Amino acid sequence: MEKIYDVVVVGAGPAGLSAALYAARANLSVLLLERMKEGGQIGLASAVENYPGGVRGEEGQALVDRMAEQCGHFGVERLRGEALGYDLLGETKRLNVAGREIASKTVIIATGRRAVQLGAAGETEFLGRGVSYCAACDGPFFNGMDVVVVGGGDSALEEAVYLTKFARKVTLIHRRDSFRAAKYIQGKARANGKIDFLLNSVVREIKGGDLVEEILLENTLTNEISHIRAGEGDGMMGVFIFVGQAPNTDDLPGYLRLEGGYVVTDEEMRALTAHGPLPGVFAAGDVRKKSLRQVVTAAADGAVAAVSADSYINR
Ligand code: NAP
Repeated sequence: MEKIYDVVVVGAGPAGLSAALYAARANLSVLLLERMKEGGQIGLASAVENYPGGVRGEEGQALVDRMAEQCGHFGVERLRGEALGYDLLGETKRLNVAGREIASKTVIIATGRRAVQLGAAGETEFLGRGVSYCAACDGPFFNGMDVVVVGGGDSALEEAVYLTKFARKVTLIHRRDSFRAAKYIQGKARANGKIDFLLNSVVREIKGGDLVEEILLENTLTNEISHIRAGEGDGMMGVFIFVGQAPNTDDLPGYLRLEGGYVVTDEEMRALTAHGPLPGVFAAGDVRKKSLRQVVTAAADGAVAAVSADSYINR
């Protein structure tokens, strides 16, 4: 007989892991899907300093590893694969995962966001050959070398500070002359003697042979073109890009209401359509339209979504 889960959670970042934990502790059968490695975007963060009770200086992956271990302890089933082909309209929801059909009474969408590309020439060509979107993953490759960081948000400034652990010099390139990063993070970056700031500048091209050797910049006020080249004798430099995030909603069915690409929910995390909540379908975390995207709000969303799924099943 076909297995019908109580809850299928799509995405194993903090929102999905929290939803799976709360659902499993409510004695529901839970399948947690993740297309790559659990952790989502926070799994790439070099340090998480604002999760209440978190371990100071801990990498994001360590935090999500503990969340995942907790889920395992309470019997959450895991499956690796990308959820495609959602059928969420009937009493039994159906998802296609790697050619296999998964059936469930409820679905919690926690697919999060992904790094946005800068759009500079050479960016895709040099990905993994100097261009990176993850300082915790690739920072150590640039020990004693020069790196540039692009962006002016929390991620760019936070990761620029982290990269000074390895790099000889970090040049932070931002298209304006003020940052949207939190004041505390700005203070840390400004106090770090290894970080140079290059403001009102955009990266036009990333160049090199096998590895990145040079970037070409344009001043947004004067249109003047300049270059940053790899340090003498290094033969390569790092280009770390943190210019924002986009929601992973491309594969979701068209009847879900999206705003700016984000899933619209009510306070119970029920996903909305044009006609109101879609029964048995919830969304949690960064994929949801909301004002504050942090690990703590993702985890809170996940808990609310799981409790709502439980109420729906026992209605
Ligand atoms: P973000 O806040 O959206 O910042 C993106 C930055 O990239 C902005 O400075 C933006 O410039 C710049 N940018 C965007 N497109 C660009 C382009 N094509 N060329 C050059 N620059 C471009 O993204 P984020 O820093 O990844 O943060 C995402 C969310 O995660 C935020 O809500 C943030 O608070 C949160 N976060 C929190 C922490 C923490 O609390 N410790 C750490 C990391 C992230 P403009 O400013 O000119 O638009």
